[in-house]
Amino acid sequence: MNVLAPEFEITEIITSSEDSPAAFMWDEWYAGVGGREIDIPEVNEYLRKIHTEQYPRFDGEVSPLKMTFATPEDASNYIKSKAKEFGADMVGVCMIEPSDMYRGRSVTHEFAIAVGQKMLWREFQKVPSRESAIECLRIYYSLGETVIQLAELIRSMGYECKVEHPIGDSDVLHIPIGLKAGFGELGRHGSIINPTFDPLFRMGSVLTSLPMAIDHPIDAGIAKFCDNCRACRIYCPADAIGDERTPEAGKDHLGNDRYKVDTGKCFPYFAKHNYCSICLPVCVYNHKQWARDFDGIPTKLFPEVIMHTPPAPCDLVADENKHFYPKVKR
Ligand code: SF4
Ligand code: SF4
Repeated sequence: MNVLAPEFEITEIITSSEDSPAAFMWDEWYAGVGGREIDIPEVNEYLRKIHTEQYPRFDGEVSPLKMTFATPEDASNYIKSKAKEFGADMVGVCMIEPSDMYRGRSVTHEFAIAVGQKMLWREFQKVPSRESAIECLRIYYSLGETVIQLAELIRSMGYECKVEHPIGDSDVLHIPIGLKAGFGELGRHGSIINPTFDPLFRMGSVLTSLPMAIDHPIDAGIAKFCDNCRACRIYCPADAIGDERTPEAGKDHLGNDRYKVDTGKCFPYFAKHNYCSICLPVCVYNHKQWARDFDGIPTKLFPEVIMHTPPAPCDLVADENKHFYPKVKR
C-alpha cells in the first residue's frame, strides 16, 4: 500500500436510464393512507436516532492524502475486511450502471460497495409482531452505522464517497446492486435470497470511485427452488406475490422473467401491520439454518403467522412517482 500526493481523477457522472424506476415517495404515500399506523416506542427511537444522529454523519472531510493499492483486488480485500470489522455479515463490490439508479438521479462514482447484515430469526418467531418491527428498525440503524463507518474510512483514505442508508432516499436500488455484488438470487417474494443468510437480511451501500475488483452474480439454483415452492405466496395475507414468472415483471440478473409482487397490495398491509415481513421468515429456502439463529438459542422451525384481513389495494402515489408494479389478480 502506498500513500501518494493528493490528486483526484475527474469522474464521469453516471445518470439513470429512462427505464429506471422513480424513488418511491414514502412520505406522500403514508400521508395518503392517513399516516403511519405503527407506533412502537423502540421503533420511534430508532427512527429518531437515524434522522438526528446518523444523517448528519453522511458527509465529511476527504483526506488530501490518497492511499493507493498495488492491485484492485488488494483494495477490494481491504475494504471488505474493514466492512466486516464494522459489522457487515456480507460485503460485495459491483460497478454502477444507469439501470441501478432511480429515475432522475445521478452519481459521480463508478463502484458500489454493498453491505448486508442478517436479522435475527428469534425476533421473527411471530409475524407480524412488535418484536419483528423492532428488529427491522434495529437492523436499519445497525447497518447505518456500518455504512457510515465505512464511508468515514474511505474519506480518510483520500476518496470521495456517498452513503446509501438502508432506510431509503437512495440514488441506487439496493436489490440490483446486491444481485450484482453476489449476494444471492431474487426470490419469488422480491427479496434477495442468500445461500447462507436466506432472505432474512437487509442491505445498504457506499458509492465510491476507489478502484476495486468487482464481484459477480451467483447462480446457486435458488431461482429454480422458488419455481417449486410457493410458501411466501401462500402466506402473503395481501395476496401480493405472483404465481408464475412473467415478462411483465422484468428480468432478474440471470435472465429469468421475474415473479410479480404487487406493492399496491403489499404496502397498505405492511404499513398497518408492523412492517408485515411474513414473506421473509416463511421462506422455505435453507430454513433450518435460521432455526439455529447462529447463537445456539432454540427457536421454532416455522413462525407463528398472523394473517389479518388485508386493507384494500392502494395506488396513491402517482404513476410517474412510484415503482412500476404489475397488479396481481386485480
Ligand atoms: S411483506 Fe407481507 S404483504 Fe408484503 S409481500 Fe410480504 S407477506 Fe405479502
Ligand atoms: S418461500 Fe419459496 S417461493 Fe417464496 S421466495 Fe422463498 S423459496 Fe422462493
